[in-house]
Amino acid sequence: MASTLPVIGHFVNGHVISPTSGRHQMVYNPATGSEVAQVALADVAEVNAAVHSASVAAPGWADTAPLKRARVLFKFKELIEKHHDDLAAIITREHGKVFSDAKGEVVRGLEIVEFACGIPQLLKTQFTDNIGGGIDNWQLRQPLGVTAGVTPFNFPVMVPLWMAPMAIACGNSFILKPSERDPSASLMMAQMFQDAGLPDGVFNVVQGDKIAVDALIQHPDIKALSFVGSTPIAEYIYAQGSQRRGAYPLRVQALGGAKNHLVVMPDADLEQAVDALIGAAYGSAGERCMAISVAVAVGSVADKLVNALVPRVTSLKVKNGMESDAEMGPVVSSAHKEKIASYIDQGIKAGAKLLVDGRGITVPGHEKGFFLGGSLFDHVSPDMTIYQDEIFGPVLCVVRVPDMAAAIELINAHEFGNGVALFTSDGNTAREFSRRIEVGMVGVNVPIPVPMAWHSFGGWKRSLFGDTHIYGEEGVRFYTRYKSIMQRWPATISKGAEFTMPVAK
Ligand code: NAD
Repeated sequence: MASTLPVIGHFVNGHVISPTSGRHQMVYNPATGSEVAQVALADVAEVNAAVHSASVAAPGWADTAPLKRARVLFKFKELIEKHHDDLAAIITREHGKVFSDAKGEVVRGLEIVEFACGIPQLLKTQFTDNIGGGIDNWQLRQPLGVTAGVTPFNFPVMVPLWMAPMAIACGNSFILKPSERDPSASLMMAQMFQDAGLPDGVFNVVQGDKIAVDALIQHPDIKALSFVGSTPIAEYIYAQGSQRRGAYPLRVQALGGAKNHLVVMPDADLEQAVDALIGAAYGSAGERCMAISVAVAVGSVADKLVNALVPRVTSLKVKNGMESDAEMGPVVSSAHKEKIASYIDQGIKAGAKLLVDGRGITVPGHEKGFFLGGSLFDHVSPDMTIYQDEIFGPVLCVVRVPDMAAAIELINAHEFGNGVALFTSDGNTAREFSRRIEVGMVGVNVPIPVPMAWHSFGGWKRSLFGDTHIYGEEGVRFYTRYKSIMQRWPATISKGAEFTMPVAK
């Protein structure tokens, strides 16, 4: 019997279009475990149609004055504010995170839109009057053409907004390939762009999986692709992009996974450190690339820290995210729940001490939901998979080290380098740590140091592949090409050919 579930389609050339590939995937409400929709999975022809629409739209949009582009973004910003709760509710329904957290996600995305509204100022370059001989020199930052973004499930609004407003403000057209696990928000944002007055074809959405992503990477009209997701896929996409040959190869920034540490020094305010750990490890069920998954307890603080954490983890309010007092919702899928549970098994087998076990909980009225409680391991060591791998769930590992030097050595040896935090009351400790740690984003007494819109976001090591971080001024650089122009007018040109290297006169 054919499914009666709604089908989430693509958005091309200003319209939602009916899918033609015949391929679909179920979309679930993780809190109830029920199927809520089917998402279309694009084939190559559907991707090509989206690229065609974006290619047709690109030159006109590139020629639109930056101030006019900014005005569209101002209207888009107003629409996001107006539909803030609707967007957050869609996030909670398909992702599972609690509603207040989903609202926070929308705000963090909105901040990038606000930054992009300043594009006339951001595209301003430098001008040198009279470098010599009646010649002036200045630069342009020109759009690339058609750009694309591939985004993860854990921030279905914020991460697309890290990319699309920047690309569009810079004068490019953009194709979003959102996560197939929570695709609805992408269509809502597409409609808002349309209602804000963005010309048809400047923002497009293709739903899909690997087939759609590969078709985007291989399409010669795509000039730049931003990816955010897990490290194996980020690495694959970066390698594919690097292999593209031709006069104008694909520019790629690929942000990957993480294993973020929070170091607690003996001089830290313990209560503050515990609050920070609980929020940063278990907020959004640990499904944040900046979630803290390792607490590094330095010296004498370890027992006190662990004793303070246990009752807090045990009493986490795990509920449907739409309930007002929920602190943690379900994880995204049944398969992901099983994967997290299997990591807990591995930790026990490897000899770590499981102090709180979040497996096997049920939430009354939501027995089929993908819920896990918070789990806490003590005496975790660097050789264990629960330390090495990104679990991406509500599991916090405590590693005990003797001093700050050992904490830095531990963190610097990890393959990921996305975020890190240090809790201390000593300024010099904080300064030394910040300078010596090999991680892209550092928080001092700040557990989740996601940079603001005008500071760019990005990790080090296997947390980012490519040369530029995302959004902020790095985003402007990523989505534009730099051109230098030197100009003079006939009245100042002296007669005769010159065969020596031109120098200022
Ligand atoms: P994922 O890598 O499974 O998927 C990300 C995107 O890639 C999705 O759009 C998906 O459809 C696509 N994709 C999946 N498999 C593919 C393949 N074989 N070839 C081409 N494309 C493919 O990631 P996820 O599970 O959706 O998200 C969680 C991951 O994202 C975590 O590792 C998390 O740390 C990471 N993440 C990183 C950041 C960051 O800023 N560094 C931010 C958010 C999430």
